[in-house]
Amino acid sequence: MTVERMQMYIDGEWTESISRETFFSIDPASTKPLAEVPRGGSEDIDRAVKAARTAFESRDWQEMLPAERGRMLYRMAQLIREQQAELARLESLDTGKPLSQAQTDVEVAARYCEYYAGVADKILGETIPVRPDVLDYTVREPLGVTAHIVPWNYPIQIAARSLAPALAAGNTMVIKPAEDTPITALKLAQLAETAGVPAGVVNVVTGFGTEAGAPLAAHPDIDHITFTGSVATGTAVMKAAAVNIKPVTLELGGKSPNIVFADANMDEAAQWVVRSIVQNAGQTCSAGSRLLVERSIREEFVALVTEKMKQLRIGPGLENPDVGPIISQKQLERIESYMRVAQTEGAAIRIGGQRCPSAGAGFFFEPTVVDHVSASSPLAQEEIFGPVLVVLPFDTIEEALAIANGTEYGLVAGIWTNHIHKAHWLAARLRAGQVFVNNYGAGGGVEMTFGGYRKSGFGREKGLEALKYYTQVKNIAIKISL
Ligand code: NAD
Repeated sequence: MTVERMQMYIDGEWTESISRETFFSIDPASTKPLAEVPRGGSEDIDRAVKAARTAFESRDWQEMLPAERGRMLYRMAQLIREQQAELARLESLDTGKPLSQAQTDVEVAARYCEYYAGVADKILGETIPVRPDVLDYTVREPLGVTAHIVPWNYPIQIAARSLAPALAAGNTMVIKPAEDTPITALKLAQLAETAGVPAGVVNVVTGFGTEAGAPLAAHPDIDHITFTGSVATGTAVMKAAAVNIKPVTLELGGKSPNIVFADANMDEAAQWVVRSIVQNAGQTCSAGSRLLVERSIREEFVALVTEKMKQLRIGPGLENPDVGPIISQKQLERIESYMRVAQTEGAAIRIGGQRCPSAGAGFFFEPTVVDHVSASSPLAQEEIFGPVLVVLPFDTIEEALAIANGTEYGLVAGIWTNHIHKAHWLAARLRAGQVFVNNYGAGGGVEMTFGGYRKSGFGREKGLEALKYYTQVKNIAIKISL
């Protein structure tokens, strides 16, 4: 396979890094290099932030009709769809994810552009009845230059998730894709250029976290940071932002439970429990990584889950298997370290638990179910970020709630029951940003508010709610005197 040589995008120009250094993005299915991209550093970040600032303050941008920003996003949506096959192929190669999942990701990226295209001219203020001789109203203004630090698990989807509302609201931006998966963010910038987005409005700087991500988070001339990734890096980003008093939106993953009651439709629940932990090889912030199952059906249900896992095909993303490789050697070793914890703690590995060399030369790991784990074990508390499901039985609904709420995270929860009162009782008490009853994910949901409780982060993405985080409110009071 030929290695694609790519440049990054600053101020409407395709460019090398100032150091002229590069690095390779690796195909995790074969461990071979896929693309060579510029190794951006603090000077490149500075260039990009300056370009975004100049673009933001330009008369053309300030005077552009909101509807025109919407049209740009519509054109981006169309272009993404026109190039769906190629974008999905690249995303599948770069991340390792099954081709069908990459195709969905590309369509979701198009949907983000389309969804926020429609609201660009509907970002409304309020009139506030203060007193008869005062006209008081609010306007929602863009923040200015927004910084977007993107992880490697859903590169095009997460880049589009914040690009689209930020642009719809009138911001200009600097995007830093993950070093493991820089390709489709650069393709997105190409499409923005073709869609007529002016130079400097969207900038993409490729590079490593410490070399490009950290200077972006610490840059004094940005106005907001959207970060998706680990708690440790999120903490570093928040600290850097604190120095300059910049707002942050943090999406930091989770340890999300699927809570299965004895009265649930077992086959359907098992299907979704498996799907929610093997999607993207478990490298999903909202992965259903804990199975809380009513003790009376524990054996039967776990057998059903392991039976479904046995049927899964593991292989390179482009062969469209059920499960692709893990993103990197580092992440593979991290998953293995949790398997050693399972061994030390005497947990039972019901299926999987090891690498899968028969799937290829890359970083493959078998879908895994770990049973007989204490709720306080690192296996049940920490984000493993692999296809590893931990089983935790419960006897009462109160116990299910306590276990479900018993981690530092709170991103998503699934409830499986045919008892409406149990569903409502739990939905009201779960500490999670999204709760699903008898489904998990509702098909992706560009329209649904998404974000974390507790260490899963704060701020909200997706839906109309996201616009609040890319705008600031100004109150204007006008004295009327005759
Ligand atoms: P990470 O959080 O370190 O990386 C995410 C992004 O942050 C990347 O673009 C990276 O370059 C950048 N980054 C790294 N260090 C930075 C810094 N000091 N300042 C600014 N930006 C920086 O994630 P990782 O190390 O690649 O993965 C480790 C763990 O993160 C995973 O095991 C998983 O638990 C978690 N993770 C979560 C998500 C999610 O969607 N919630 C996504 C990816 C990773």
